[in-house]
Amino acid sequence: MTRLVTLIGYPLKHSVSAVFQQAAFSECGLDLKYENWETPEAELAGAVDRLRGVSIAGANVTIPCKEKIVPLLDELSDTAQRISAVNTVVNRDGRLMGFNTDVEGFVSSLLHDAGYRLRNRKVVLLGAGGVARAVMFALLNQEVTWVTVFNRSVDRGRALVRAFTRSAGRIPLTALPWEDLETSVALKDCDLLVNCTSIGMRYSSTEGETPLVADLIPKDALVYDLVYNPEETPFLREAKKAGAETLGGLSMLIHQGAASFELWTGRKAPLDIMFRSAREALARGA
Ligand code: NDP
Repeated sequence: MTRLVTLIGYPLKHSVSAVFQQAAFSECGLDLKYENWETPEAELAGAVDRLRGVSIAGANVTIPCKEKIVPLLDELSDTAQRISAVNTVVNRDGRLMGFNTDVEGFVSSLLHDAGYRLRNRKVVLLGAGGVARAVMFALLNQEVTWVTVFNRSVDRGRALVRAFTRSAGRIPLTALPWEDLETSVALKDCDLLVNCTSIGMRYSSTEGETPLVADLIPKDALVYDLVYNPEETPFLREAKKAGAETLGGLSMLIHQGAASFELWTGRKAPLDIMFRSAREALARGA
């Protein structure tokens, strides 16, 4: 019997997960089919019930359901519990286990695709939404030196910092208003600058925009844009203009997807095939 892995969230039409996960299943000869289930929040409970069926191996979860799904699952990994967000579900005989592979995806992408270790780094985050929570958790686990968060809504930035203050221990966390970016000492002084906002995302209202222009980007930092569509974002172009090293969001997307693949299948993920098929889909204008 062909088993399904589904993607739960809304909207889904621009997601490339189905493309690269299906390519990975085929490459490994697995009888699995990846299917998008467009699920607005109001339909989430019904979709979760369907996941318990014998024909379902598991699911990915994306916006706007990552946090809402937490109380509907039977068990959570330690990481998912601490971030209060799930991006991967495994169906074990009708019991639904929730995981968060964004954390592993972020750390692995830096290590494997940029040779970059996080320990003792000074980090600036742009944005304080869902993915910023996973990134913050990863940074604290890897014992960075400090983290400064800039967010358009400063209250949301402060809430992110408050939520992690206890687990940060002696690592200083600061939230600042977006307007302070132009004069920020932290920005000039950071080793790693991560865009966790959606600015520049294709098909969004900010398509073609960059969170920062070249003049403000520190040339000695690694600039990581988590936006993966388009593969080369306006922010990455500005960072290159500034002379900084760069990493694009496709890297995290594939590494989180690889970790999910391994949870569903128990097999090692074919990273090359996943990268290639996702790149092709993005180039086709996914
Ligand atoms: P959320 O909706 O939870 O957060 C969006 C963030 O972007 C908020 O901080 C929001 O600020 C900020 N923002 C949006 N528009 C603007 C703007 N015009 N000016 C300034 N700030 C803005 O989304 P997620 O955190 O889940 O995702 C953010 C991005 O990361 C998306 O593009 C997503 O595709 C990408 N992503 C990539 C992954 C990968 O594997 N590469 C994994 C997950 C996400 P405010 O709080 O003020 O609204």
